[in-house]
Amino acid sequence: MNYSDHARCPSCSGNMIFSIGAQKLVCESCSRMLSPDEYELIIAEKKKKGVSDEAVSGAKPNVDESDEFASLNRSYTCTSCGGEINPGALGATDFCPFCGNAIVFTDKFRDQRMPDFILPFIREKSYFIANFKKRARTKFFVPDSFIREAVQENVKATYVPFWLYDVKISGEADYKAEKVERRGSGKYSSYEHTVYQGHAVGSQKYINVPQDGSSDVDDRISQALEPYPTEAAQPFSFAWLSGLNAIIYNMDSQDSYVSIRRRVTTSFDSFLSNAKKYDYTMVERRDYRMEPVKVSYALFPIWTMDLLWRNRKFRFAMNGQTGRSAEEFPVSWTKFYTCQLATWFLSSCLGMWLALGILAGGGSNSGRAVGDSLLFLFVGTAAFVRYVSVKYLFARNITAALSAMVMLACAAYFISEVAEGTHDSFRDGFTFVILLGFFIAGVISTSLWTIRIIRKDNAMELRRESNDYVSVPDDVVSSRNHKLLYRKSNKSRDSLILSEAEKKKKRGWF
Ligand SMILES: [Zn+2]
Ligand SMILES: [Zn+2]
Repeated sequence: MNYSDHARCPSCSGNMIFSIGAQKLVCESCSRMLSPDEYELIIAEKKKKGVSDEAVSGAKPNVDESDEFASLNRSYTCTSCGGEINPGALGATDFCPFCGNAIVFTDKFRDQRMPDFILPFIREKSYFIANFKKRARTKFFVPDSFIREAVQENVKATYVPFWLYDVKISGEADYKAEKVERRGSGKYSSYEHTVYQGHAVGSQKYINVPQDGSSDVDDRISQALEPYPTEAAQPFSFAWLSGLNAIIYNMDSQDSYVSIRRRVTTSFDSFLSNAKKYDYTMVERRDYRMEPVKVSYALFPIWTMDLLWRNRKFRFAMNGQTGRSAEEFPVSWTKFYTCQLATWFLSSCLGMWLALGILAGGGSNSGRAVGDSLLFLFVGTAAFVRYVSVKYLFARNITAALSAMVMLACAAYFISEVAEGTHDSFRDGFTFVILLGFFIAGVISTSLWTIRIIRKDNAMELRRESNDYVSVPDDVVSSRNHKLLYRKSNKSRDSLILSEAEKKKKRGWF
C-alpha cells in the first residue's frame, strides 16, 4: 500500500519535526534528535524486520486509482487519529488538524517523481525576520512606520520544486560590437563610436541552470534568489520535509525548458560576441544547436512572508540556504521630496550668496567666475543628493527631519546675508531668476534620476542570462574574426548599433 509518511520517534512514537537550527529531526515528546540519515536507517531496519507499513506510516490516501490527475488532489485519513486531511493538489506536507502530527505525503512524490536531491534550509525563522528589518533599513526612503508596523503574515519555509538543466550549446553568430570613448572635456567633449562587424563559432556548456516548476511561485522571486548553491545539496529523503512546507511541481521539465532556453541563448550571444570587451554588442544572425544533456529534479528552500501595511500587501522572500533576499517595499514620497527640495533650496541660496558676492567684487571676469562656481555647485549638489543625502541624511524619519531643519536654517542665513548686502535691484533680480532656474532644474533632474534608482533597488525582474552556470568560464571560441566597420563622433554616449536596430524594428512594425 502506498502510504504517506509521518516521522515517528523510534523511542516514544512521538511527532518528529525537522529543526533548521539543529539540522536534525527533533521529537516533540522526548526531545530525541536524529539526523535525516540516521532516521532513514532506523526506518529501513524496521521495515526489514517486517514491521507493517501501517505502523510506520502517517496517513492513508483516499484514492480513486483510476483517475491519475485527480489522485494528486486526494484527501487522507490520519493513521493516528482517523481524522481527514486535505492538503490540496500541490501541497506535499501538512499537519493533521486533529492530532497535530506532521505528515509528508510521500506517495505524491512517488506517483509524480522523486527529487534527485534537496538543498536544506540552514537559515532559521529568526534570521529571516531580522533580515527583513535589515533590508528595510538599507533601502532608500522606506517609511519608518512600515518597518515598525507592518504585520507579518504567512511566514513560511517552503521547499519549492526546481528543474535543473545541463545544456550544451554550439553554433555561429554574426554580430556588431561597439566601443565608445570620450574625447575632450567639458563643453567641447564628444564621443567616438567605433563599430566592428564580427563572426564567431564556438560551443559552451551550462550546468544546473535552474527554473522553478511551480506556476504559483513568481519567477521573478525564484530568480532573484539565485544562485542556489547545489554543491551544498543533500541526497533526498523525506525526513528533511517533516514539519516544513513542501510543494510538488505543476509545470513539468518540458514547460520549464522554455525559460532555460532563452537564458542560455542570451548568455551564448554575449559569449560569442565577446560582450565583456565592448560597450555594446548585438547579435544579428544566429545559428545555434542546443541540447539538454541532463535534467535533475531538486527541492530548494525558500522563506516567504506577506507584509500588511495600510491596507497594502508587500512581499519578502529569502533563499533558505544563502540568505539572499527579494523584496517589494513601499517608498515614503514625503521623505523623498523633503530630501530633494531641502537640498536644492540650500544650494540655490548658497549660490545666490556666492553669485552676488562675486558680482559685487567686480572685475572683468566676474560673469565667467559666477558661471563656473554655479556649475560647480550644481554638480556638487547633484552628487550630494545622489550619494549622501539619500543614503544617510534622509534615510530615517528623525534624521530626515533634522537634516531638513538644518538645511532650511542654513538657507535662511544665506538669504539674510544677501538681503543685507547689495541693493542693486536689477542685479539681484537677475541672480534670483538664474538661481530659481537652477533650483527647478536640480529638483527635476535628480528626482527623475533618484526615482530610477529607487525603482531599480525595489524591482524584481526576470533574469535574462545564465552566466552563473557556465561550466568553463574562460572557454575560448573556436574561431572569431572581426573587422572595423566605421568610426563616428557625436555628442551622445548612446549606442549607435542599438538605436539603428530600434529604428529598423520600428519600420518593421508600421
Ligand atoms: Zn520521542
Ligand atoms: Zn491525526
